[in-house]
Amino acid sequence: MGGQPPLQQQQQQQQQNFQSAPPAAMGGGISQGSSRYPNPTPQTTTQQGYQQTPQQQENVGGVGARTYPQYPGTTSSAPQQQQPQYGGGQPQQQQQHYQQGMPSSGYNPPQAPHSLNQGFQRYGPQPTPQSAASKIDPSQIPRPRHDSHADRTIFDTRNPQTGAPMHPPGATSNFMARDVGNANPRFIRSTTSTIPNQSDLLQTSGMPLAVFVNPLATLKNDEVQVPIVDNGGMGPVRCLRCKAYVNPGMRWVDHFRFACNFCAHLSECPREYACALGSDGKRQDWMQRPELCRGSVEYMAPEEYMVRAPMRPSYFFVIDASPSAVQSGVTVSACEVISRTLDNIQGGDTASVGIATFDGTVHFYAIRGDDENNNASNENQENEKPTTSNGATKTPKMLIVPDVDDPYAPLPKDLLVNLNKNKETLKTLLKQIPEMFANSRPSAVASGAAIKSAIDALKYKGGKVMLFLGSMCSGGWGKLEVRTHSGNVEKEPLKIMKPAEKCYQDCATEAAEYQIGIDIFVCGSQPVDLATLGVLTRTTGGTLYRYPNFNVQLDFAQLLNDVRWNFLRPQGMEAVMRVRASQGLGVAEYGGYFCKRTPTDVDLPVLDGEKSIMVNLRYEDKLVDGAEAYVQCALLYTTMTGERRIRVHTLALPVTSVLGTLFRNADLDAQTCFMVRKAANTLLGGKHTIAAAKDAALAQCVSSLYAYRKYCASNNASGQLILPEALKTLPLYTIGMYKSNGLRSEASADDRANWLFRMLKSDPSETTPSVYPRLFPLHFILEDDGFQANQKQRHDDGDQAASITDSFPPFPPCQWLSAEKLDGDGLYLLEDGGEMLVWVGRNYPQDRLKEVFGVDTVDQLDARRSMLPPNLPNERNKRMNAFINSMRKARSGYLRMRILKRNDAMETLFYNRLIEDRSVAGMSYVEFLCHVHRLIQNKFT
Ligand SMILES: [Zn+2]
Repeated sequence: MGGQPPLQQQQQQQQQNFQSAPPAAMGGGISQGSSRYPNPTPQTTTQQGYQQTPQQQENVGGVGARTYPQYPGTTSSAPQQQQPQYGGGQPQQQQQHYQQGMPSSGYNPPQAPHSLNQGFQRYGPQPTPQSAASKIDPSQIPRPRHDSHADRTIFDTRNPQTGAPMHPPGATSNFMARDVGNANPRFIRSTTSTIPNQSDLLQTSGMPLAVFVNPLATLKNDEVQVPIVDNGGMGPVRCLRCKAYVNPGMRWVDHFRFACNFCAHLSECPREYACALGSDGKRQDWMQRPELCRGSVEYMAPEEYMVRAPMRPSYFFVIDASPSAVQSGVTVSACEVISRTLDNIQGGDTASVGIATFDGTVHFYAIRGDDENNNASNENQENEKPTTSNGATKTPKMLIVPDVDDPYAPLPKDLLVNLNKNKETLKTLLKQIPEMFANSRPSAVASGAAIKSAIDALKYKGGKVMLFLGSMCSGGWGKLEVRTHSGNVEKEPLKIMKPAEKCYQDCATEAAEYQIGIDIFVCGSQPVDLATLGVLTRTTGGTLYRYPNFNVQLDFAQLLNDVRWNFLRPQGMEAVMRVRASQGLGVAEYGGYFCKRTPTDVDLPVLDGEKSIMVNLRYEDKLVDGAEAYVQCALLYTTMTGERRIRVHTLALPVTSVLGTLFRNADLDAQTCFMVRKAANTLLGGKHTIAAAKDAALAQCVSSLYAYRKYCASNNASGQLILPEALKTLPLYTIGMYKSNGLRSEASADDRANWLFRMLKSDPSETTPSVYPRLFPLHFILEDDGFQANQKQRHDDGDQAASITDSFPPFPPCQWLSAEKLDGDGLYLLEDGGEMLVWVGRNYPQDRLKEVFGVDTVDQLDARRSMLPPNLPNERNKRMNAFINSMRKARSGYLRMRILKRNDAMETLFYNRLIEDRSVAGMSYVEFLCHVHRLIQNKFT
């Protein structure tokens, strides 16, 4: 440890300094804290993910460039063995039989099905949940496989020997994908990686058919970025009939003609693209052209793809300065966060920024100096040089919009200023705002009018509105009121999940038309009607952030990291996306965050790497068994540096007529995502009941498990519950969804809406933890000597990052989500992809308590105040911090954290997530599994 180079020490220190250093309390000035904050994703990601793109562009751009990485087929032998191959085969070997009375030596699936013919049927054909459940050994029922994340699987998207597309690793697993002619599953993932040859087979299987596309997904550090192709004026080569982009699946019949793998049409390529075929029938240049050997490429768009000059990034910050926001610290936090993250805004010298505040009225700030007025018409010029001394002493002029019922932006062109030229002025203004409003009198909160007029201010150029909101809109345009559902929450349509005012949807659609995206940071403790506000983000491709019971001490770090990552993450502007499917298939429907104006395309004023769009596929004809079907996503967008690009992902899916093959290649994470999104979409419409959403999810689960039981496992005794290996935890995830904030009946309206909106954009990798969180026995991590030895070994083996206390993984095995598994003298950490909850048993040893949290008794911990103390000088504290950091790094968002003790007022936050127990939210997992089993059996009779 002592001999580490300074840089590494610095990195480690940075990783540990995740503690919040909130701004000073109101009234005083804003202290520029010196604590550093890690990016939610390691810094290297940003560097490799974005800044290296231009280099790669140099490397691969132009005809005949040869430098993009190539993968010899010999380097990935290890993981291949674990990956199922496509083709026929008997699924029986993969079946797992779950039954009562097996020894409780952990989950250990039996290998010989015939020896297990005394399964569930012992309890009669119609066992009541209780009677059957009481006889089931909970240790024998399916749970997710432990993934320590210690070793990274290498995944070649096609089999290097046979060229066949490969079944992707689990969405939540630690893998490094290599695109060898098929898209990385981070960009496209299908609910099943082989596709039924006809709709009848799909129907029989009971499985959904959809793909999830995340065209700008953040790649892992060691994954090769999408190669950039610059064909000059020629642009991308496309099928002349269906306009599909050239891809590895197109068949070249001679030096200039190719048969389209989407519509079979024979097209001619431009003369300059022609190339002789080799003896293998392939173009001789296929390895030199990324579009011919990669599943994902990005083209520089020629002029015909532009309707106007590409946009430059513009941000309009709208800050709640109403008395309650000022008092609760929302105003000062927002100003401080914006001020600290201005340097993270992408777009270089061309980015522009505006600021507005609101209380009972809306206030804009004219920041532009005289020298800039002369340049007002030239602001899209690239060569504006920052002049840091400019503007340092300029005093912004406040412009008040008094009419909050019909709001507008005064002098729109004066409100947005060049960021680099005015950074100091902006920072000064942000420092002054909390003081300016420190003593304002209570009034209605005109947040709706503020959003509306900020959109107005951005209309002439497009961009992003970032709203920092402390309380509900209570006056002017878009005034809202607290809505509560009266009547039976479960069985009556949840009308309050529908926007209260139509004007919000109209406003969002209008914003989308002007290429304006809206992000909302809700930092309040009172209801704000998220079901209504959410449509602003959903329709414009924006993001909804929420900090319930916002507390400056506890939440400042998260707000800061969220805003920073919002600026740094992969993203684009003024985007249009279309998905094509090959002959026999069609796109039935898109789902997610976007605006739709034409039947075939989705419009995305803004898009980032955390937005996944669901694309439901339908059959238009029968597919050829044994062939490949294709799905292609084309995204036309503008980068943050003002380049128009077309990103194309092509996914090949082998076609099968064998049901067993289909089940073997079912994708659990994608199917869970489908189920959850369907429920979210249904409930947000406000027309359906929670009970109906649950029934639909249960029906999906039961129908596929029944199909497997009937057609793929019919040899087994009829009373047994036999689950396909690939979908064995589908019932667990279904009950997990039942008990989520989105569907549990006692959830508050904002909690529910927040969950539903989050699910509606989330990727399969994020959905699974949200329905089945991970529960780690932290005390084990802090104590286990074996763990320490393991880390030391990794360090000795040359893994420099794995110093003894500072590095995870391997993650220890998770515990079941059951209160029975909690020890009173233990310490647990629950993580669901959105937040971390640390639960402290009342008998957790006092000396440990002091070391880890710096307190003497459990009672000194309070969920509303307690935070981890920064870096106490002891081993346990260091290890705890290292573990928490590694959790945060594994997720792209910054995980909020709360420390709860036994009998804490907020303890239900934790217990609500122990979804395997019976609770007010529903059956236990064992009971639910029996219920599912019974429903499957009922289908047989
Ligand atoms: Zn075509």
